[in-house]
Amino acid sequence: MSVLTQRTRVLTVWVLTLVLSQGVLAQGPLSKANLNVDGKRISNADEESGNWLAHGRTYSEQRFSPLKNINADNVKDLGLAWSFSTDSGRGHEASPIVVDGAMFITLPWSIVIALDAKTGDELWRYDPLVPRSWGRNACCDVVNRGVAVWKGFVYFGSLDGRLISLDAKTGELVWEKQTTDKDRPYTITGAPRIVKDKVIIGNGGAELGVRGYITAYDAISGDLVWRFFTVPGDPSKPFEHPELEEAAKTWNGEWWEIGGGGTAWDSMAYDPELDTLYVGTGNGSPWNRELRSPGGGDNLYLSSILAMNPDTGRLKWHYQTTPMDNWDYTATQHIILADLPIDGKERKVLMQAPKNGFFYVLDRETGELLSADTYVDINWASHVDMKTGRPVETGGGDYQSGFKVVLPSPTGGHNWHPMTYSPDTQLVYIPAILEPFPFMHQPDFKYQKGAWNLGVDFPKSVAFAIQSKAPAPETSGHLKAWNPVKKKEVWRVVHPTMANGGILSTAGNLVFQGTGDGRFVAYAADSGDKLWEVKTNLGIVAPPISYSVDGDQYIAVLAGWGGVPSIIGGDVAHASAAKFANFGQMMAFKIEGSTAMPEIAAKRITMIPQPPVSSASSATVIQGQNLYHQYCFQCHGSLAVSAGVVSDLRYSTKVVHENFKKIVLEGMLEGAGMARFDDLISEEDAEALHAYIIFRANQDRTAMLEAENQ
Ligand code: CA
Repeated sequence: MSVLTQRTRVLTVWVLTLVLSQGVLAQGPLSKANLNVDGKRISNADEESGNWLAHGRTYSEQRFSPLKNINADNVKDLGLAWSFSTDSGRGHEASPIVVDGAMFITLPWSIVIALDAKTGDELWRYDPLVPRSWGRNACCDVVNRGVAVWKGFVYFGSLDGRLISLDAKTGELVWEKQTTDKDRPYTITGAPRIVKDKVIIGNGGAELGVRGYITAYDAISGDLVWRFFTVPGDPSKPFEHPELEEAAKTWNGEWWEIGGGGTAWDSMAYDPELDTLYVGTGNGSPWNRELRSPGGGDNLYLSSILAMNPDTGRLKWHYQTTPMDNWDYTATQHIILADLPIDGKERKVLMQAPKNGFFYVLDRETGELLSADTYVDINWASHVDMKTGRPVETGGGDYQSGFKVVLPSPTGGHNWHPMTYSPDTQLVYIPAILEPFPFMHQPDFKYQKGAWNLGVDFPKSVAFAIQSKAPAPETSGHLKAWNPVKKKEVWRVVHPTMANGGILSTAGNLVFQGTGDGRFVAYAADSGDKLWEVKTNLGIVAPPISYSVDGDQYIAVLAGWGGVPSIIGGDVAHASAAKFANFGQMMAFKIEGSTAMPEIAAKRITMIPQPPVSSASSATVIQGQNLYHQYCFQCHGSLAVSAGVVSDLRYSTKVVHENFKKIVLEGMLEGAGMARFDDLISEEDAEALHAYIIFRANQDRTAMLEAENQ
């Protein structure tokens, strides 16, 4: 080797090293941000009110910002400061974290990005490369609700069940742990919370069949510290922890075969003074209680609020909101901690509006029930017995005895979309939902690995509705201001759409919410008067936050439609945000922000293309309709009408029609998120499904042509 070549080599290595090390230098605000977030800083969050350090800003998860440069007087001058295109059309549910001008958000498929919170410039990006085939295990879209930041690291869960730690300055991988058994359809969509150097993470999957649990990992080493199972396993084997021995007495049958459910997929809160972690748990798996636990039983700890010791994972107390859950009534909804004057006495309370329709106020030290009042119309229970703490069922939800239309639906009177509590108004603001839902017992239910296992006969409900020509049930959504002390509604704003965004309240007497029909709105927190509105032309489900950089206050929201019920909703959801092309935008607004809103054109309703000729019999079409509402509607929408998130199959192209079986059975479009289903669907089934899609395309195409000719 000549000296020259050697020199060139040394130089090349030197240049490469320089380039590589430059590639991992902290950029923009990350170079000077104090990313050393810890429990003390989160507990004293009001001392750095320009930051949004934790999921709900504080451990109490009030989602209230003390900032008031933007207030009821000047909010009319709010304008866009910047927006950042996410280039994704799937569900956008994340709540950002902001530390010293650096913003951290998650996108669909668990991608994490860091942005300059002043300019919207991307600083780094980490893609955990979730296998797109895993998307079929997600009940409610391939969403993620955010990261946690702690002592220089960023933590998040990936859809396929990993807990991942990144260097907050550079986005480089530090460690990752598989938190779930990959032989089971577990997913993670919720944001981790961090308490005393322990990263707490749950999981989801109860629609398909899993056993729920919560795990604490050491933030630095990634070692597992404790795991709390929310439902017991096979009682012939040793219980993993003593709480399960008690819980097992409330179950019957062989629930562990399917899993039992109880997944803790979203809400947590922490009280540093009481040193208590609060976690909400999910619905039963399967939904149908008679199939899940024949002979009855409360089925602890389904649909419960758990108060836990964060060091050990031991249970301090629990409150079950829906004993014997039968309707997907999770208690994973947002938990807020506050101090309220109840009957003239200051009480440390915990508040939740779970899916079941009751607004609960509990003493968070003892678990004592202080009040439980309906915050939406319900028909499955009349009230909560304050002596026993149990809801009194009316029989209106007892679908084992026959077809029942139940209120609230499995979407709930309120879902994951966060509420907020303003200590100024002492009101809780709830994104409420009114949706009745048809339930039908499935007596011939059999567990199918990889499918939805509910014990509720969707195909029969759909066939019944079509046959009886029943109109689609009336659904609506509203923003409700609720007084938790007086136990009553103070004001409400009714929205045209059922699913709307999470909520932020601020010290500027403001409440912010995005809507399903593509608006971002500010209301007066005390009166509900609308003070400002901008058309985003993107449906919004995520919650806004507020922060400040260089003296300017910002209100930011991740705009983008998706998640349940947007994808299942079919016609109902289609009428709203689906009229816009759904590519997400992170948007930040400030007073006199003068950036033009991103141009998001309304989608033209185009003619359904002529599908291929089908010679299938009507019996085959009905078989296809049943199969569709067993395996496909969860993503592609009821009656093959998509709400604009996942492909509308009525609009399938010639290429899709020609390759229908290859797509469904061989995973031809797996890279785009369409998993293969040959484990559940036979070739003959695929043909019947295709016949149904062709039938529906023809049906709606004919109606469109007739309307055009009128
Ligand atoms: Ca569920």
